[in-house]
Amino acid sequence: MNKLKVFCPATIANVSCGFDVLGLALESVGDEMVVKKIDEPTIRISKITGQTLPLDTHKNVAGVAGLAFLEKSDYAGGFEIEIHKKIKPGSGIGSSAASSSAAVWAMNQLLNQPFTKTELVQFAMQGEKLASDVAHADNVAPAIYGGFTLVRSYQPLDIVPIPTPEQLYATVIHPQIEIKTADSRKILKTNITLANGIKQWGNVGGLIAGLFTSDYELIGRSLEDHIIEPIRSILIPGFDDVKKTVIKSGALGCGISGSGPSIFALSKGEKIAQIVAKSMATVYQTIGLDFDVHVSKICSTGIKSIS
Ligand code: ADP
Repeated sequence: MNKLKVFCPATIANVSCGFDVLGLALESVGDEMVVKKIDEPTIRISKITGQTLPLDTHKNVAGVAGLAFLEKSDYAGGFEIEIHKKIKPGSGIGSSAASSSAAVWAMNQLLNQPFTKTELVQFAMQGEKLASDVAHADNVAPAIYGGFTLVRSYQPLDIVPIPTPEQLYATVIHPQIEIKTADSRKILKTNITLANGIKQWGNVGGLIAGLFTSDYELIGRSLEDHIIEPIRSILIPGFDDVKKTVIKSGALGCGISGSGPSIFALSKGEKIAQIVAKSMATVYQTIGLDFDVHVSKICSTGIKSIS
């Protein structure tokens, strides 16, 4: 096999209470990428459609992640990458992660899987470092593993795949403003109070327990963020109204997707997730801000090859 076309899922990082450690992959929102083996020991980005992004290997997250892969690989050749972007950069649903993780996943497939998933996450994190100055794994881990993932530790990197309840659906609305991850990290405080810490780790444990036992009510109760959301939500117009409306519409919980401006809600069943989508849309129609809205199942496979 010399060439592979892959689906690169969008991802929701943090999932309210799990800043930098929790993430999930979406099934029906994502980019496509074609990766081809070449003889020269280099990474070449030959084409990008859908968005204006750098073709320069060192400026594109797919290139940087690919170079990290090549550096650790015995393979004497290189790869050419075509990126077909559907996820807008700066939307908060892992645009950079989709490219960096899919590039290394596809390369690994083309070489008969010399690397583990954790090693692929490490290469993809180099792309995240380029995009946001921080080598965070909460988007690239669910893209590579699928479903929900927990980054239990960064040093050493320890990723725990978490089961996804069958009826769990995500609704994501993207108001058309751009918030760069690097900028929305700068406004965060570096210290937290013990009182907030106690609430937050209670919720992380509750969310994980709820996912393992398919306890939808527990999942909903645990989708609370006492540390990051109060600061970052100020950057997102209409955030409080969206949150109030979607809970009234039956969502289990709602929060900022990644660093925003996208807002996500989780619901039990597609029907409620669609109602939630309509109520989110109503808020932005009232404000007069353009938006995209998506309803998606959680993607249990993560990145996958497509024909
Ligand atoms: P996201 O959270 O959606 O990944 P960021 O706010 O981190 O968005 O922005 C992504 C940054 O990474 C942008 O500055 C963008 O130009 C840069 N970038 C480089 N290569 C890519 C790529 N292949 N896909 C998306 N963004 C990329």
